[in-house]
Amino acid sequence: MDINLSNKPFDYYFIPDNPYLLLTPGPLSTSKSVRTVLLRDWCTWDDDYNSIVQEIRAELVRLATSKSGYTSVLMQGSGTFSVESTIGTMMPKENGKLLVLTNGAYGERIGQITKYLNIPCVIHNSGELHIPDLERLEQELKQDSSITHVAVVHCETTTGILNPVAEIGRIVKQYPKIFFVDAMSSFGGIPFDVAEIHADFLVSSANKCIQGVPGFGFIIARTEELQKCAHNARSLSLDAYAQWIEMEKGKGKWRFTSPTHTVRAFKQALVELQEEGGIPARYKRYSENHKILVEGMEQLGFETVIKKEWQSPIITSFHSPKSEKYQFKKFYELLKSKGFVIYPGKLTGLDAFRIGNIGHIFPDDIRNLLAAIKTAIFW
Ligand SMILES: *Cc1c(COP(=O)(O)O)cnc(C)c1O
Repeated sequence: MDINLSNKPFDYYFIPDNPYLLLTPGPLSTSKSVRTVLLRDWCTWDDDYNSIVQEIRAELVRLATSKSGYTSVLMQGSGTFSVESTIGTMMPKENGKLLVLTNGAYGERIGQITKYLNIPCVIHNSGELHIPDLERLEQELKQDSSITHVAVVHCETTTGILNPVAEIGRIVKQYPKIFFVDAMSSFGGIPFDVAEIHADFLVSSANKCIQGVPGFGFIIARTEELQKCAHNARSLSLDAYAQWIEMEKGKGKWRFTSPTHTVRAFKQALVELQEEGGIPARYKRYSENHKILVEGMEQLGFETVIKKEWQSPIITSFHSPKSEKYQFKKFYELLKSKGFVIYPGKLTGLDAFRIGNIGHIFPDDIRNLLAAIKTAIFW
């Protein structure tokens, strides 16, 4: 193999292609060039590495908003670690109460976190097939003045439903409460401005729409609010305030071992997001993936679960076929053998499966998937 013919790092040629595409909401399929940059080691406290961390932090804020007054913190672990870190850090130790609007497993998880952390909490469950009830939200905020914070998931990945965060944020700020948004599966894939949706804290992770590999999450915060959060944290390692201070003072230094390879890959993923044309272009590609998928699936006789007006282009739930001969496991294995990994359903009381449109996935991949599904129908 001649390594001098291309400006690509020579190791690029040794990276094997993936055996299948992940049509899942994270970890998802990444580009070969993102995976290639994982191939070298970095010193966790060296300037070379810390400057990458600082570039990432600045770029995340730039992607999040055109307004000033926002900052970002990176946190080790999967996305849930960043959700737990933010909740445990933003909620005051006393006299704090969180209202959680939930319509799926990730909203439920926020409620579960408050139980573990002994944080007073009220839960409004609008059911998995509906967006939150905005009138009920307003009533609750009117009646219960002890509520200090409101939390909601943007794209509830359980179903693919997209919650109206801007409208919710507007109501939250009328009272005025602190607003937390779990934008794990939407940040980088759906255009929005953190300031315009009135989010004080917003969380996402490396392995969703930015198309990096798993290993850390990140918090976009209104600086003024984060500054008030010293000594709130219920956990040493998940103290987002302490992590922020360390990153600010140490110019990109993490408190504990940082996921260096993952961070380097994330930097490459950000470069590729920009090369693609930024978030609007990525949104367009995901939307096209979604449109082709739904049209093709409907032609094959499948039905979507979520109302079209609420459906996100991130992930789509389909009702399982009614036939008694249908088994998800067999369908899954057949598709996997043809190069596609789909996702089981996560709904309670409804038989469904999910197909993700995010990641290094293009319209032709979706067309090939549809052809594979057509031949995999065994019922
Ligand atoms: C993926 C995801 C999370 C985090 O899940 P992890 O498995 O911890 O990475 C949280 N909320 C939503 C909406 C998600 O899609």
